Amino acid sequence: MGNIIETKKISKKYNGFLAVDSIDLNVPKNSVYGVLGPNGAGKTTLISMLCTILRPTSGMAIVNGYDIVKQAKEVRASIGIVFQSRALDDILTGREHLEMHASLYGVPRDIRQERLDEVLELIALGKKADEYVKTYSGGMKRRLEIGRGLIHHPKVLFLDEPTLGLDPQTRENIWDYISHLNQTSDITVLLTTHYMEEADKLCDEIAIINQGKIITSDSPRNLKKELKADTITIKVDYPDDFVEKVKELNFIKDAFLIDGEVKLMVESGENLIPAVVEFASNEGFPVKSVELEHPNLEDVFIKFTGSKISSEGK
Ligand code: ATP
Repeated sequence: MGNIIETKKISKKYNGFLAVDSIDLNVPKNSVYGVLGPNGAGKTTLISMLCTILRPTSGMAIVNGYDIVKQAKEVRASIGIVFQSRALDDILTGREHLEMHASLYGVPRDIRQERLDEVLELIALGKKADEYVKTYSGGMKRRLEIGRGLIHHPKVLFLDEPTLGLDPQTRENIWDYISHLNQTSDITVLLTTHYMEEADKLCDEIAIINQGKIITSDSPRNLKKELKADTITIKVDYPDDFVEKVKELNFIKDAFLIDGEVKLMVESGENLIPAVVEFASNEGFPVKSVELEHPNLEDVFIKFTGSKISSEGK
């Protein structure tokens, strides 16, 4: 099947600050690929380079067989872009927006109507197509933005934080549309997100990035499986002392203090909670609550960085 995007040691420096640091990214054709990381990790910078909006400081990248610097025009014709906060014009209708974009991207006039109808159906805006955008809900606007990115049949669709600022219900609808799109066409979707759940539900593969570097990449399932770790979250008095003391228990693989709670990484949480609670009480740390969680992508991130992905959340 091969990779539709490949980068080799791609880097971007802003006035000496390394925002993207030697990233090797391989995105399989026809996948939904997620670049997951906290705010400021370098996600937007990375995909802006792949979209030819920014020039890399060093390294290189191929998108759909074309070099992003030497063949920027060909790259641009191969991709659709839906970035954060790209304002739609309220005084146009949905259809007018798509028409404008189709002409901008050189979709031949004789197939334009057919293309518009096809995209409107895909983004389920057929009924609202001739109404002004100002009457659209947040989810409808986002779908129209995605539709706009699809009008010229790109091979790769770049979505920067596709569900940022949307309510949970609308977010799930957008996930459904993206999956549907990926399944019913031969498009590859590369999205950035700082929502773990989004990466988990939607992506075939993800790269987790932090401070400009890929810290790990694989399918969400494998990343969680490899972790072999349940998390026991325990609230106690004197958590700062407890997080050190509890490391005496030999089955604790790691212990972190996050937002005043102690997170313990263990192999099999169910069996070990009683021992942890007993230890805490015996050592003079009254236990206020205990929770058990099976691994999620947040835990994968914590394992690699010792901090939470959402700690700098917007
Ligand atoms: P967010 O979701 O907040 O946009 P991100 O992971 O997409 O986060 P980037 O926007 O790529 O991160 O930013 C990476 C780092 O580079 C940040 O520390 C940011 O402050 C810095 N940065 C981004 N753009 C510029 C710029 N034009 N000049 C200087 N520094 C920048």
